[in-house]
Amino acid sequence: MKYEPVIGLEVHAQMLTETKIFCGCSTKFGSEPNTQTCPVCIGMPGVLPVLNKKALEFAVRTGLATGCTISLYSRFARKNYFYPDLPKGYQISQYELPICEHGRISIIVDGTVREIGITRIHMEEDAGKNIHEDRGNFSFIDLNRAGVPLMEIVSEPDLRSPREAVEYMKKLRAVLRYLGVCDGNMEEGSLRCDANVSVRPSGQKEFGVKVEIKNINSFRFVEKALDYEIRRQIKVLGDGGKIIQETRLWDSGMGVTESMRGKEEAHDYRYFPEPDLVPMVVDKKWTDEIRASLPELPDVKQARFVSGYGLPEFDADLLVSEKAMADWFEAAVKAGGKPNSVSNWMKGELVRLLNEENKSFDDCPLAPEQLAGMLKLIDNGTISGKIAKTVFDEIYKTGKEAEVVVKEKGLVQISDSDEIEKAVDDVIAKSPGEFERFKAGEEKLAGFFVGQVMKLTKGKANPRIVNELLKKKLSS
Ligand code: ADP
Ligand code: ZN
Ligand code: MG
Repeated sequence: MKYEPVIGLEVHAQMLTETKIFCGCSTKFGSEPNTQTCPVCIGMPGVLPVLNKKALEFAVRTGLATGCTISLYSRFARKNYFYPDLPKGYQISQYELPICEHGRISIIVDGTVREIGITRIHMEEDAGKNIHEDRGNFSFIDLNRAGVPLMEIVSEPDLRSPREAVEYMKKLRAVLRYLGVCDGNMEEGSLRCDANVSVRPSGQKEFGVKVEIKNINSFRFVEKALDYEIRRQIKVLGDGGKIIQETRLWDSGMGVTESMRGKEEAHDYRYFPEPDLVPMVVDKKWTDEIRASLPELPDVKQARFVSGYGLPEFDADLLVSEKAMADWFEAAVKAGGKPNSVSNWMKGELVRLLNEENKSFDDCPLAPEQLAGMLKLIDNGTISGKIAKTVFDEIYKTGKEAEVVVKEKGLVQISDSDEIEKAVDDVIAKSPGEFERFKAGEEKLAGFFVGQVMKLTKGKANPRIVNELLKKKLSS
């Protein structure tokens, strides 16, 4: 029997606010444990939360960018459970009236565009962190993260393969970064995902029983964990067994998912409206202002790069994946670079050099104008495409203009036929045997001679002229 996977993701995104969601403590990552805390976020009795307006604005921004309806009236709810990293004994979250509902994100997989529904986006506070170190028979708790604002973005069960799930995560991350509402840093936990997955016999309408895989923190793990879990479920069903609705954990070391606990139901949490916070009434005028301030988003930019600059879809896709990269590209084109050349140098050499240094376009040492300047030198024949690689490394490392580097290093392409002819004659004189064979019709030796001339001129001879001269020598 053939089975079809059904996947829905619940993504937690840490919002890029300066302070926590219900108090004034800093949200900075990586500080000494428990230095960014106050009576509100460590859950002292008698304190009262106050909503950070920026968090609400960021959630609304995200909702508008993903086509959601913004609830003009919404409220917070208490989600009750006990865990050491949750000192209040409840998490302030949203339940019946989330801030955003019914949106969508489109992804492209194998050339097909798919719209993935977003059920809801709600705000909530993060919990602290338990630290289990080998320092005796006890654990530690760091509450710096407690009260950091999160958005939970819940997708419809519209995804049909692990690859689609990864593409959805990537697109969502790009949108969040474009909006400036989340840095998308998965290593630091700013973006994490719970993946829900079930399988059903192909052609069956009803969904199968789903399993939730908790807290996956990289794209690769999303794909691997889902792959594993889908295979596991198909095997269980194939052996005549039943899938139990449960929560599982991805063990990246072992490459398996493991049962963690039976699935909790909403009623287990005893949700009720948060009595310490008034309902939120969002002003339509305010949401209009936020809508007007939205940046051009990846999909629209991608289409514009294809139609406006004539780039291949694939290149445009890559360039818009990071806003800083897209901006860099447009700046280089504005400085005079041809779109396709700029894109090719970015995809190849520039990405390679950035990766070597673990850098991104946000901190790219090369200015777009420097690349445009170098492309000009290629176009007007001052340097060859081959020499350009050396020049490129140099302008990247030194910050100098290509023109200066070419002068300093004496890299100007030799287009003087007399000078090149001398080199050609030298090479022929050194390899008389090869030249006889070349004359006798062994055409592939042309490459040998061009190579030798290039070696002699340190790559500076204009290859077009070298070829012309070789032809001349043959016929003479
Ligand atoms: P729960 O009540 O268990 O929280 P929800 O209906 O709220 O479940 O859905 C939680 C997530 O699980 C959503 O992202 C949703 O798309 C996904 N989901 C729901 N049903 C299924 C299913 N049968 N298979 C896979 N994913 C599902
Ligand atoms: Zn605090
Ligand atoms: Mg639910």
